[in-house]
Amino acid sequence: MRAYRDQHFLTDPRIVARIADLLDIFGRIVLEIGPGEGILTEALLKRGARVISVELDSILIERLEERFASEIADGSLTLLRGDAVKVPLPPFEIVMANLPYSISSPITFRLLDIGFEAAILMYQKEFADRMMAHPGTRDCGRLSIMLQTYARANRCFDLPPGAFSPPPAVKSTVMWIEPREPLFPIHDRKIYEDLIRELFTRRRKTVQSTLKALAGRFGKEKIDSVIRDLNPEILSSRPEALYLEDFATISNELSS
Ligand code: SAM
Repeated sequence: MRAYRDQHFLTDPRIVARIADLLDIFGRIVLEIGPGEGILTEALLKRGARVISVELDSILIERLEERFASEIADGSLTLLRGDAVKVPLPPFEIVMANLPYSISSPITFRLLDIGFEAAILMYQKEFADRMMAHPGTRDCGRLSIMLQTYARANRCFDLPPGAFSPPPAVKSTVMWIEPREPLFPIHDRKIYEDLIRELFTRRRKTVQSTLKALAGRFGKEKIDSVIRDLNPEILSSRPEALYLEDFATISNELSS
């Protein structure tokens, strides 16, 4: 079997069934990213979903077209060839995928941007750990804060490398993700996202130091007034020690 980057195919039908059964997908529009040879695609179709699968590899697309000719003909499967991070996507309700790990971050942010009801996504275990990392811990970063701001997430189960062919070098984790409105209102999402990026790019620095570095964008007067208004404990902290509410507070000060 060819083994290009990111092509670790699930081989155990019980694991595929376990993933496909995590949500009730009967009659729902399910987006699948990276169908590969179609093992999960078949499980989704069998459960009565209308499936849209996006695959980058044209040889795999040809094989999928053969394997699912009748489902494509009756409209239950739509195959899209292209990069799931960029290709225009038709409307969908649910996402299910054994993700290509090289696009974990951009595809997760893209999906959260577009919006969906719920997702079951498989990630490299370390990536899933970072998504779930609590404030105050070493793993907590931009990914953790952005995900926890805009979604609820849960670890469903871990999979050993032996569940795939060829086995990857890393463990995998199946995650459940459901978008939600932020718990603490955010007045300007663009400023919030930029702030999180800046803070974690300079994660060894205090909040005050990073705010001062933002004077070029917001103006010195504005930054001085934000620093005057913020709680000194927040100002002297590093970003990884802050809570979701703190990020919202700083961002709302900047956008007021
Ligand atoms: N779902 C299949 C399975 O579980 O057996 C295959 C999963 S494999 C980890 C990832 C699949 O994503 C491969 O088929 C690969 O060709 C495809 N892929 C890689 N990068 C992609 C991208 N940017 N957009 C869409 N598909 C991509």
